[in-house]
Amino acid sequence: MAFRMKSTKSHPTPSLAAVVFDSESLLHESGLRATRAAQTVLELLEHTSQPLTHEEVAAAYTTATGELPDRVTIYRVFDRLVEAGLCDRRVGADRVNRFSRHVEAASGNTFECDQCHKVLALPSDPELPKVMGRLGRALRKQGIDTRHTALTLHGTCGDCAR
Ligand SMILES: [Zn+2]
Repeated sequence: MAFRMKSTKSHPTPSLAAVVFDSESLLHESGLRATRAAQTVLELLEHTSQPLTHEEVAAAYTTATGELPDRVTIYRVFDRLVEAGLCDRRVGADRVNRFSRHVEAASGNTFECDQCHKVLALPSDPELPKVMGRLGRALRKQGIDTRHTALTLHGTCGDCAR
């Protein structure tokens, strides 16, 4: 499946075409159209270890394809990728939106590096859901309805600490 032949026209740049990451299938399986912009953005996110801002993606897009991407198109692509669960949008501690490939954190609990804004899933801890549930009940008593709980630990990742 991963080694399916790809049409050459959807991969104009040799650097992206050489990579075995089937963005086209992934988009189709998620019910999205595999437009060139969607494929390119998804591939850029797949091959970066750090979450990227709109500006960084636009710059990487130009480097990869030699084209200036349409800003609105990129925004729409991000919306669709986030909606389909293929990528995550996070507002960093600096209030800037960053995008990354979806982090599989069953609990929704993550670690964010304050230097490079890399996001990692927290190791699972059986106590955590209990604590979150307890906090939710405590808030409900104050008339606060929590729909979603996610814990984010902040700090410096191993790469940035070096
Ligand atoms: Zn870092």
